Amino acid sequence: MRLHEKVNLLSRGLFSLFLIIFLLIPFLAPAADLVVVNNIRFWSYDDYTRIVIHISEEAEYIERRLKDPDRLYLDILFSRIDEEINKDITVENRMLQGVRAGQFDENTVRVVLDLNTIKYYKIFMLDEPSRIVVDVFGPTVFSSKKRIVIDAGHGGKDPGAIGPKRLLEKDVVLDIAIKLKKELARHKNYEVFLTRDRDIFIPLEQRTAIANSKNADLFVSIHANASPRRSLRGIETYFLNWTDEEEALKVAARENAISMKQMRKIGKKMNVLDIMLNDLSRAYKRDESNKLAHFVQDAMVIKLNQQYRHSIVDLGVKRGYFFVLVGADMPSVLVEVSFITNLLEAKLLRKDSYRERLAYSIASGINQYMSVIPQRQTVAEAGKSLAP
Ligand SMILES: [Zn+2]
Repeated sequence: MRLHEKVNLLSRGLFSLFLIIFLLIPFLAPAADLVVVNNIRFWSYDDYTRIVIHISEEAEYIERRLKDPDRLYLDILFSRIDEEINKDITVENRMLQGVRAGQFDENTVRVVLDLNTIKYYKIFMLDEPSRIVVDVFGPTVFSSKKRIVIDAGHGGKDPGAIGPKRLLEKDVVLDIAIKLKKELARHKNYEVFLTRDRDIFIPLEQRTAIANSKNADLFVSIHANASPRRSLRGIETYFLNWTDEEEALKVAARENAISMKQMRKIGKKMNVLDIMLNDLSRAYKRDESNKLAHFVQDAMVIKLNQQYRHSIVDLGVKRGYFFVLVGADMPSVLVEVSFITNLLEAKLLRKDSYRERLAYSIASGINQYMSVIPQRQTVAEAGKSLAP
């Protein structure tokens, strides 16, 4: 055997060895590396159910819909189930019989939804903590009234931002939300709901779940701004979209109750997510949310300036990645009514008359948007594009 043949044989042998090791890697990986499915929860409403699968970190999944019997299942790849959790959940509503979960094979957890009658469903991921959310929509009976869900930020154990003399964001925004509901309730054509009407804690993902369950036409989340720069003041309105803009990132990180580091981590994944989720319905919602944000922001600035001698600072409409807006099935915005950390604005926020004027202004913006809103059917049609 000549030398170069020997070398050839050796390199082929080495290549085969590496190939075998490479192919074995998935099987050699210790179980500790698998994503852990550590809880499954659900919220059930008349015409909508949200199932939340808690996982230890981001995971990939494959979804399938089967007929006879009607089932939807998710295979969560490279995962194992925490044996302690409830794996057989009874829902028993119009849409679902229940949810079952189990270890399908060594590296796959399968979650099965046993369905009754559904119109469509959608699945998406939420971060920090990682969750897979399955929204299931029932056959809706449309009412001719416009439905508005108002969300007062924070509450209960979460005070939100804290201003001078312990002025709490959760209290200020609850009062504005209640006033806004009253203001909107003057219109016979509206049905208005609050995500909370008292000082209680509600998880962020439950707030949009409430809006979805009401089959709302729009969702408005009310917040007060905060900054370590005490001089910063003004009003701004956000709609859901990714941005790298530093100040908007800070606002979103604070409202999401996560660090800037976690916020940037989400940013790195955003491009992939954007492409994945870039469906018609999403573009439609983004454009409508942008429109709604402009109506609300402009109305606030104009109406408040009429009363407060043009002293209101207009920070404009911005994009932001707020958890509370993710998964909302309708045009939705988050309003930062003023800075609770600014002495002047904190003083205003304490005043009943200022809160009243804020509520009146936001209502005025909503009314203007409602007068140009496309028919509800358009929303439903857009939703259909998500069906399997
Ligand atoms: Zn807030």
